[in-house]
Amino acid sequence: MQADSKNYDVIILGAGASGLLCAMTAAQRGRRVLVIEKANKVGKKILMSGGGKCNFTNHIVEADNFVSNNSHFCKAALKRYSQWDFIAMVERYGIEVEERKHSQQFCKNSAKEILAMLLDECQQSGVEIRTSCEFVSVKNTDGYYIKIKQNGKIETLNSQSLVVATGALSIPSLGGSGVGYDIAQQFGLALTERRAGLVPFMFSDYIKGICERLSGLALEVDLSCNGQTFTENLLFTHRGVSGPVVLQVSNYWLPSDEVSINLLPYLDAGEWLIEAKVTQGKQLLKTLLSKKLAKALVNELQILWWSNLAASPLAEFSDKQLRMIGEKINNWSLKPSATEGYRTAEVTLGGVDTDGISSKTMEATQQTGLYFIGEVLDVTGHLGGYNFQWAWSSGYSAGLFV
Ligand SMILES: Cc1cc2nc3c(=O)[nH]c(=O)nc-3n(C[C@H](O)[C@H](O)[C@H](O)COP(=O)(O)OP(=O)(O)OC[C@H]3O[C@@H](n4cnc5c(N)ncnc54)[C@H](O)[C@@H]3O)c2cc1C
Repeated sequence: MQADSKNYDVIILGAGASGLLCAMTAAQRGRRVLVIEKANKVGKKILMSGGGKCNFTNHIVEADNFVSNNSHFCKAALKRYSQWDFIAMVERYGIEVEERKHSQQFCKNSAKEILAMLLDECQQSGVEIRTSCEFVSVKNTDGYYIKIKQNGKIETLNSQSLVVATGALSIPSLGGSGVGYDIAQQFGLALTERRAGLVPFMFSDYIKGICERLSGLALEVDLSCNGQTFTENLLFTHRGVSGPVVLQVSNYWLPSDEVSINLLPYLDAGEWLIEAKVTQGKQLLKTLLSKKLAKALVNELQILWWSNLAASPLAEFSDKQLRMIGEKINNWSLKPSATEGYRTAEVTLGGVDTDGISSKTMEATQQTGLYFIGEVLDVTGHLGGYNFQWAWSSGYSAGLFV
């Protein structure tokens, strides 16, 4: 061991959600823990999350709420430290909780309370945290020798266990970085392909103009892609479409895939139009549809699908025409040109391949003492508190073994 190095049992890179939970868990076991954070403040994403209210978990957490090359990998950690374990800590701290739709758990007051709770647990158990302190390099020779840079000075620290909790590429201004992938590759771990997740779609064709004109309009739709369907709000924006339903589907979208929007999810639109032709035959199709959809949207649909019949009453449409229009309403196929990318993505899909990681301990199977937790791994949650739950569960699991 180098004489000038400071020794710790555990060094954790990244004072985000997973790093802090891991730190407190390890320190509560009596381990000497140091957390290295390159930003000037810890837990920036926690503070920004859920519009400042942090959607910290969900009452219903299942493996199906996560995307990974190995759909079983997340199960052990989610069982070891479940949503109920985190909720119990939140309750112990008297943090008021607000349940929103789809069983999402938010702070009633502020995300600051979640961060304060984690920091309190860390402080009570003796965790040392260094901010504005950047990881530079690591060597493994009978323990980990980690070079860090703080106030322009390089220092070497030593630890038995090294935990990589540096998160992923999303939102560089909030700490997003690829350093965790570099460390994984240095130690021979494989990576799965990474791309932006929980992210809005953009369009480059005529749909872009429609989105611009409808910008600000939100409506509940079914949105489907690659066999996955979500029902939630879609929001038209200047660049394309956003809103919870789009973010959910973006986790399953690959470049050049089409997505399908069902604008009237609770209705067979073709049947409804044909019935309306009999009972309300004098009406314009536009007038009828405007009872269920925003007028501005109906105007755009009319230009796309029945502009030559715009002035014709419903009675003049054939059943076949109405059925075709109905099918488009229930299954409007669009081809996004791209996502907005890491600049606005809430998460990064893909990451360190879980094949090289123990699902019980989060330790690299071929590299003793090296652990990966949180978003750096190839485990990505749906929208709804699942990404934080993964950070808590994986952080806790590693915290028990480091
Ligand atoms: C705007 C926004 C809102 C979100 N809202 C929610 C939500 O409500 N619910 C939910 O479940 N999920 C939400 N997420 C996702 C969630 O924030 C992440 O999945 C979660 O924070 C991942 O935890 P982590 O510990 O892996 O990484 P992070 O929390 O990102 O922490 C990684 C830390 O490592 C530090 N770091 C990086 N590189 C280095 C380095 N070289 N040296 C030292 N430190 C380094 C970073 O500065 C950062 O502090 C949101 C994400 C964003 C961007």
